[in-house]
Amino acid sequence: MDFKECSKCVKLDLPNGCVVDILDPVVNEIHKWIQDQPAKPESGGLIVGYEHQRTGNISLEAVSTPCNNDIRTRVRFEMRDPQHKSFLLKAKKKKSYYMGAWHTHPQPIPVPSNTDWEDWKETLKLDKTGCRYVFFVIAGIKEWRLWAGDSITNEITEIHECKKNEAGLYLREELYQAEQFGGKI
Ligand SMILES: [Zn+2]
Repeated sequence: MDFKECSKCVKLDLPNGCVVDILDPVVNEIHKWIQDQPAKPESGGLIVGYEHQRTGNISLEAVSTPCNNDIRTRVRFEMRDPQHKSFLLKAKKKKSYYMGAWHTHPQPIPVPSNTDWEDWKETLKLDKTGCRYVFFVIAGIKEWRLWAGDSITNEITEIHECKKNEAGLYLREELYQAEQFGGKI
């Protein structure tokens, strides 16, 4: 997904037929940390959100951002600061749960490294999220991409934006209009 072309909120198809909604604070916050200058180190953080009980669709609504005790170089980010955990605890009180993690890459279009795949497999094995999936975002300089790890099949696959009509509206928009009245679980 191109950062510049991101509409208000981005919807992507999940492997189980449901949809994940990326609310705009997530994309806007991550965009602030892209490595668009040679001196900028990698950044990253956690992602929180919730599952809509009725539809099974998921919303990702906020992210944590780099803190003083994280390890950051041009090509490496390690989340070490305890503030990421505090972020999760605070979010939980608002019924927003751990859903995954994001980090940046100094590439226009991000490609996961071998280390990323190893980390993701480990995360999928060990971490419990607020839904069936664990989400991994990598933000390149021009585009960002999203992978979903499935805790049932143990597969990690890149997921893509839902289809739109000629007017740029999502073809499955009707799902969301109904959802707005359902509210949070
Ligand atoms: Zn990476």
